[in-house]
Amino acid sequence: MVNTREMFAKAVKGGYAIPAFNFNNMEQLQAIIQASAETRSPVILQVSKGARNYANQTLLRYMAEGAVQYAKELGWKRPQIVLHLDHGDTFETCQSCIRMGFSSVMIDGSALPYEENIALTRKVVRYAHRYDVTVEAELGVLAGVEDEVSAEESHYTRPEEVIDFVKRTGCDSLAISIGTSHGAYKFRPEQCKRDPKTGLLVPPPLAFDVLKAIEKKLPGFPIVLHGSSSVPQEYVKMIDTYGGKMPDAVGIPEEQLRKAAKSAVCKINIDSDSRLAMTATIRKVLAEKPGEFDPRKYLGPARDEMKKLYAWKIVHVLGSNGKAR
Ligand SMILES: [Zn+2]
Repeated sequence: MVNTREMFAKAVKGGYAIPAFNFNNMEQLQAIIQASAETRSPVILQVSKGARNYANQTLLRYMAEGAVQYAKELGWKRPQIVLHLDHGDTFETCQSCIRMGFSSVMIDGSALPYEENIALTRKVVRYAHRYDVTVEAELGVLAGVEDEVSAEESHYTRPEEVIDFVKRTGCDSLAISIGTSHGAYKFRPEQCKRDPKTGLLVPPPLAFDVLKAIEKKLPGFPIVLHGSSSVPQEYVKMIDTYGGKMPDAVGIPEEQLRKAAKSAVCKINIDSDSRLAMTATIRKVLAEKPGEFDPRKYLGPARDEMKKLYAWKIVHVLGSNGKAR
């Protein structure tokens, strides 16, 4: 496994972004690796607190190591795979992941007062860099719910703080808040417009002026977007058709992410979209074959659907295909 330093430098220069996909189980991991290997895209495997609670940190770590070997078996000679801690909340969590072999960690001090965020981030950076592990920090608050991370209200990253923050913490990349949001219900209906033709919610656009101001302050510095699922409506529809109920689930339009990927944004986090693909497929298979009880018969198709989704994101949204030959 590699850290993010070189891949981010290339991504910023090349005007594309690296996908950061969360994984909690074998099928997701297989799908991520198959899609990345086929498209020759560098990839960041993310482990959240929820994933560690669900699947066990040690098991996930060895699964990621296995994934590197699996990628080679698939004919990918030099896989560029990062194992990254998503939303590390304490120094001890980051330390434990670094000791265990993670190649990158995030310390999320964004809910803390500014000076405390700096102190915590700097402590993690000092420790991590001794082991050549890269550190993502966060400034600004995202709304929405993601595993155990949640906030009622967002506030955008303040461009006037970023130089001081990056200098004093020594972080390798910075997650910012410009209007993305965690989860599959990113915006309340009253925050959106409604398309009169389709009846679907149209979310407010991302604050590209804030992104631009940050880029100007930190030229060439790797910027990260969390909460960047697009919540494809075909999956929401499938879920609703086969017994589910997800009214007003809405995400970030892909054309906005495409635009972001061409900027200093070099890591885009996508989690909810693969959950939707998996759930929609499983619901469909079980509805159509009520007698089916072999999990492979519904997890297999779910895996294939997730692989399609990951490959789509890589090729048509992030532009990272062919960047890890
Ligand atoms: Zn996040």
